[in-house]
Amino acid sequence: MIEVGCLEAAGACTFCGEKRPVYFRRYSGERLCAQCFCSSMVDRVRRTISKYDLLRYDDRILVAVSGGKDSLSLLKILSLIERDFPHARLYAVTIDEGIEGYRSEAMKAAESFSSSLGIPFKSFSFKELFGFGLSEAVESGAAEKVGVQPCTICGVLRRKALVIAARRLGATVIATAHTLDDVVQTYLLNLLKGEGNIKPVGLRREEGGAVPRVAPFRLTPQREVALYAYLQGIPFQTITCPYTHTSMRDRVRSFLNWYSANRPEALFSFLNNFERLITRAGYGGEQVCELCGEPSSRRICRACELEQRIRDALRA
Ligand SMILES: [Zn+2]
Ligand SMILES: [Zn+2]
Repeated sequence: MIEVGCLEAAGACTFCGEKRPVYFRRYSGERLCAQCFCSSMVDRVRRTISKYDLLRYDDRILVAVSGGKDSLSLLKILSLIERDFPHARLYAVTIDEGIEGYRSEAMKAAESFSSSLGIPFKSFSFKELFGFGLSEAVESGAAEKVGVQPCTICGVLRRKALVIAARRLGATVIATAHTLDDVVQTYLLNLLKGEGNIKPVGLRREEGGAVPRVAPFRLTPQREVALYAYLQGIPFQTITCPYTHTSMRDRVRSFLNWYSANRPEALFSFLNNFERLITRAGYGGEQVCELCGEPSSRRICRACELEQRIRDALRA
């Protein structure tokens, strides 16, 4: 039983009153058997979608799948929910960043899992979209010349790649597997960096014709997604990214894990309180990037600028 801690492992599942519990949800006091836990995950995603109006009945939903457990769990749960919405469509999309020896295992997992759910799968690569892969940008020294970490290039350009993929597939929304933990980490990082205009993460916003990005796991703790993946037999990726380094995000993650260990509601209350503040402050004006035509707070968006600077450095 996970999180036995202060609880006597005895007793039956709070939901069905029959089966043996496998999980103690500390912030609600519920003990759940495997089956009730999995259906509670689907219910929560359904409630999250309706609470924040994340998806519409006729959306064409691009699910960003990295091939990791979080994104495959999201794909599975959305496929169960969308059964009730015959006008909605799901597409699984993987972005191949061009990291040598890293993406192939995950890509295979993503493709076979998608096809087992009957969801069309498509992959797009940095090489095809931007003219270079991540390994190329790093090994050639171009990233260093531009003064950016591999993770920054990857994050910014993957975002752009997903928008291009969405436009090509005619998707009306991009769904990502960011969890409650990820959203809170992002807010805290933005605060620490002194970001002036913090935008809500994973909420549907369509200003300026942007393809909205939604995070149906925004109210689901990371550990519960991991348990769901485990119980569903979703494969865990074994190869780690060669460019992983200790980032500020890792430190923020450790702090939040430590802080919430004895205060299980902490992440929920941070998210709720923080979003009340930023919503009141407004999101700030938007314009359109002169190069890609996507909404941006700058004349040339960050992704286009980064892409160009790397390409210039590769040419030099
Ligand atoms: Zn049960
Ligand atoms: Zn742009």
